[in-house]
Amino acid sequence: MVNHIAVIGSGTMGRGIAYTAALAGFEVTLQDISEQAIEKAREYIESLLNTSVEKGYIPSEQRVLVHRNLTYTTQIKEAVQHTDLVIEAVLEVMELKIEIFKQINEFAPPEAISATNTSTMSPTEIGATTKRPDQFVAMHFFNPVHRMKLIEIIRGIDTSDATVEVIKSVAEKMGKETVEVNEFPGFVTSRMNCIIGNEAMNMLMEGVASAEDIDKAIKLGLNHPMGPLEMADLVGLDSRLRNMEYLYYSLGEKYRPSPLLVKYVKSGRLGRKSGQGFFKYN
Ligand code: NAD
Repeated sequence: MVNHIAVIGSGTMGRGIAYTAALAGFEVTLQDISEQAIEKAREYIESLLNTSVEKGYIPSEQRVLVHRNLTYTTQIKEAVQHTDLVIEAVLEVMELKIEIFKQINEFAPPEAISATNTSTMSPTEIGATTKRPDQFVAMHFFNPVHRMKLIEIIRGIDTSDATVEVIKSVAEKMGKETVEVNEFPGFVTSRMNCIIGNEAMNMLMEGVASAEDIDKAIKLGLNHPMGPLEMADLVGLDSRLRNMEYLYYSLGEKYRPSPLLVKYVKSGRLGRKSGQGFFKYN
């Protein structure tokens, strides 16, 4: 049974996973290598709690619950040493993820389950570098975590049924729906989302329409709740580029990152997190 969850990486996804898990009643430790990232995550969670209570989305007692359940640290050993489940949400870089799970193997209890929040990469490849690949799985959350209903569960070749069952029960306690996907680069959601977003970027680059009109066309014409360019800005253009590069490397030409995406990332336009991407943000 899972009582404690350690979340590794406190960026866009890690802070959302930690908040949602604490709100669902799990004890949570949120870890990041950067002191500054931890402070930003703490501020984000406080502001989300305040807005959610003010708007009546959650009762005020839930704020106390989240404060009681959630602790922050920069020390990975402290985060994982008594945990039941580790959810890794660091950058989409394979070598970094493998290195993090080496440390987790060293410090976490042997029975703890390990999950990666990778958007595209192989849980088999990461799991094979751990001591217990049967206890390794991908648990793919969506942004913003507290609002998005789905968790995609991706089995590595050695992931056990028992591990999948534990992840399903954790997802259910968080109020999420799950789908089970056989491992393939980009799974279902990232592969689809990346290709739609990349096409929109290429259309913008070719002068087919303005960013506003591309998004409006997809929202009103195809009934998507969000435009693909707005969505890429929300994900973070640096993260999206890493996803595209991985899909291009593993699946081929169809997934070649749009040159416009590459140019935006070079210029530091990373979407919402930097204040400008395809659109401008305050
Ligand atoms: P992010 O850049 O917002 O955050 C990454 C965090 O990892 C940063 O705070 C960084 O300081 C931290 N970090 C880096 N090295 C570390 C280390 N050695 N130890 C601990 N922390 C470390 O990234 P993100 O957008 O939250 O993405 C995280 C993961 O989630 C990626 O694998 C990404 O593909 C996946 N994902 C992202 C989204 C999205 O919409 N952004 C959606 C689903 C999945």
